[in-house]
Amino acid sequence: MILALRCPTCSGPLALAEGASLASCSFCKTTSLVARPAAPPTRPAAELACWFLFRGPSAKRKSLVERPR
Ligand SMILES: [Zn+2]
Repeated sequence: MILALRCPTCSGPLALAEGASLASCSFCKTTSLVARPAAPPTRPAAELACWFLFRGPSAKRKSLVERPR
């Protein structure tokens, strides 16, 4: 997950050290408390997997592919 942090005071980019929750703006020196979002619930991979089985190309694709040029 990529999060962009901006200073609430001057909108400058904030650099947050790994594991830190306080970021100091290098432009206006404002210290911000960064709330990290809760980790998404982890589910077993089998629940997340989704499989589709197609029986060859659809009728529309077939008509497009086999169209004489
Ligand atoms: Zn700032």
